[in-house]
Formats: sequence, C-alpha cells, structure tokens
Amino acid sequence: MQRREELPLGVRVRFLTGRVSLDFTHTGGEGEYARWEIVHTPDDLSRWLGVILSVDGLTAGPADLEAMRPLRAAITDAARSLSAGGSVRASDVATINAAAAVPPLVPRLVAVGAGVEYPAPTTAGALSTIARDAIDLFGGPLAERIRVCASETCGLLLVDTSRPGTRRWCSMQRCGNLAKVRGHRERSAR
Ligand SMILES: [Zn+2]
Repeated sequence: MQRREELPLGVRVRFLTGRVSLDFTHTGGEGEYARWEIVHTPDDLSRWLGVILSVDGLTAGPADLEAMRPLRAAITDAARSLSAGGSVRASDVATINAAAAVPPLVPRLVAVGAGVEYPAPTTAGALSTIARDAIDLFGGPLAERIRVCASETCGLLLVDTSRPGTRRWCSMQRCGNLAKVRGHRERSAR
C-alpha cells in the first residue's frame, strides 16, 4: 500500500499536520472544502485512510462513505473554529464522540523496528481511531495550537508544537519555502 512519503509533494502536504484527525480533514469536505475532495468512492476512502493511518488491507463500502462525511465535517468545523479562537459546536462534539465509541483499530507489534500491524482492520475502526485522535487533540492543550497555514493561497491546517508557538507554515518544503523565496526576491528587487 501507499505511504505518505511516496506521494508527490502537492498531495503529501495534506498529510503533514502530525495529527491523523487533521490530515483526514484535508481529504475534502463541504462548501469551500469541496475543492479538495479526493474521496469520491469507497475505494478512495480505504485508500486515503490507509495512507493517513498507515494501515494495510482496509476495505470500505458505500455505508462507510456515508459514515465518513459527517465525521469529517464535524472535525473540520471544530478544528477551523478553534484555529480562529472560536468554540466547538455541541452537535460536532456529539458526532465525534459517536464515531469514537466503536472499537478502534488495534495495533499489533510484529517485531522490534518492523512497524505496526493492524489485524483485520475495518473502516469503522479506522474512523474511530481518527475520532479518538480528534478527542485527544481538542481536549488537550494543543487545541489552542491549531492554526491555518499563513500562506494566503494554502488553507491547510497545522498543529504548532514548536516550543515558542511560532510555526506558520503547513510545511517548510512547500509554503515555508515559497515564502522564503518570495521574501528573498522582494528584498533583492529593492
Ligand atoms: Zn501551506
């Protein structure tokens, strides 16, 4: 199966937030986030959940696709609101908690250094794992560190885990670098 590292940078930047719940919101959504949509079919869902969670062997059906959309919308609304200093709607909290209430993916150690396996993973379990990550994120101190990338043309979320709280870009490889190049160009044009 595909890993983050194998994706071209333009797609990979969606999955560099460091939190699977926020990476998941970058697969698309409603309204203005529809332009990012990459989950059109159940196969897309199993593929992208597999990339985000590093899980092999997921399969999804039409019901999983139906279940995914409200969860993704709830996490997106909550994270975007928090990044703007707002609060989280009770209906979004309820949606996230409901998804987290089913059993999550269960990891299994195969051998030291050989990574983690998930025996018989289900898409409902994968969505539960994502919802549990959102609960951990929104319920902890990092909830105040959710930001939107400072690039005007980007819009991706990030979690600023830097000690001074000064992270501005979704990734240095893309938006950070572009800003650096632009700054350099502006300085040398003066
Ligand atoms: Zn960015």
